[in-house]
Amino acid sequence: MTSVQKNFVEGNKEYAANFTQGDLALPPSQKYAILTCMDARIDPAAAFNITLGAAHVIRNAGASARAAFRDIVVSQNLLGTTEVLIVKHTGCGMLTFDNEGGRSAVKQNKGDKAAEEVKDLDFLTFQDLEEKVKEDVEWLKSKAVEEGITITGWIYDCKTGKVRSVV
Ligand SMILES: [Zn+2]
Repeated sequence: MTSVQKNFVEGNKEYAANFTQGDLALPPSQKYAILTCMDARIDPAAAFNITLGAAHVIRNAGASARAAFRDIVVSQNLLGTTEVLIVKHTGCGMLTFDNEGGRSAVKQNKGDKAAEEVKDLDFLTFQDLEEKVKEDVEWLKSKAVEEGITITGWIYDCKTGKVRSVV
């Protein structure tokens, strides 16, 4: 067992020993979803006051609305959520490279066969944090499937732990 797996199993043992919330309903009780980045410095439950069972937390590299579209549609149409908060953050890794950089990193790390597999992959990187929050909110709002859904955009500051409204 790797140290990661050991930590995982031991931590879960402790968690399960005190676990009392096994009867929560499947649909989120507060009927909303938060889309944020997979960045390891973000603790969504703590930073955004999300109690267990209250909301869907969707995470991917850069909090991309396009990459999360399937999850958002499922959240709303199968599980009844009616609001989305898109939360990108300062110092996001997706600000630091582009498609060409992503592909060449794969080629360097994994070789030609791997590079071929990602040759058409859009890494969905971005240059301007605030603009990308606005653009993702607009893009999501433009979808017919989002009619009647409240969609807002936010930036979380990894240095201060504070979140601010963008749109
Ligand atoms: Zn990020």
